[in-house]
Amino acid sequence: MSYVFSPPATVSLPVVGTTDRFPVHRIYCVGRNYAEHAQEMGYSGREAPFFFMKPADAVLPVENGEPVTMPYPSLTSNLHHEVELVVAISVGGSNIPAAEAHKHIYGYAVGLDMTRRDLQHQMKKEGRPWCIGKGFDHSAPTGPILPVSQASDISNAAITLSVNGQQRQTSTISQLIWNLGEVIEHLSAAWTLQPGDLIFSGTPSGVSAVVSGDTMVGSVEGVGSITVNLV
Ligand code: MN
Repeated sequence: MSYVFSPPATVSLPVVGTTDRFPVHRIYCVGRNYAEHAQEMGYSGREAPFFFMKPADAVLPVENGEPVTMPYPSLTSNLHHEVELVVAISVGGSNIPAAEAHKHIYGYAVGLDMTRRDLQHQMKKEGRPWCIGKGFDHSAPTGPILPVSQASDISNAAITLSVNGQQRQTSTISQLIWNLGEVIEHLSAAWTLQPGDLIFSGTPSGVSAVVSGDTMVGSVEGVGSITVNLV
């Protein structure tokens, strides 16, 4: 059997402590999983979070300790940063109870859910899908995956993002409305999770615009930090 053209290469992320890489299957994202971010977006912060997706090849891998370059995307004049804790799945399953979720997690990473906010707002207003606002090329800069076996307890870790050295977002993982177990429980009720899935767990308040020339540094305490230069 041969293909009519060469299939695309598998998107992958570095893994801390090994030269082996983590192959990416799907990218799930949780919307409005921090109350203060839901409020800054015009909601009460008391509604349940929800899900959307990005294509796997939206991942912009950030190699160990190296800054990555992200091209400013087309069609927008209001590109926003959203720093997020990313959960990497290595054991698939459906209807996973929150208490069992840890058995499915390979590790953690720092990611940016980059957003064409003007297009997202326009689509929301018209009741249309968000894909053009969220799922564009290079919209998911993601750092190396820290295996759970090497990670400390991150349930109260600080999560921060700075732009050109100035802090814009700061919170802790404990502020998540749905914790990681609850995210996996809800997500796996809707889709069968597969090895290689990434889950962007939601962003804290302080999202704002970035422009070409800006440098973003996103961090999760105990997981790592990534540097993204926007050009
Ligand atoms: Mn987000």
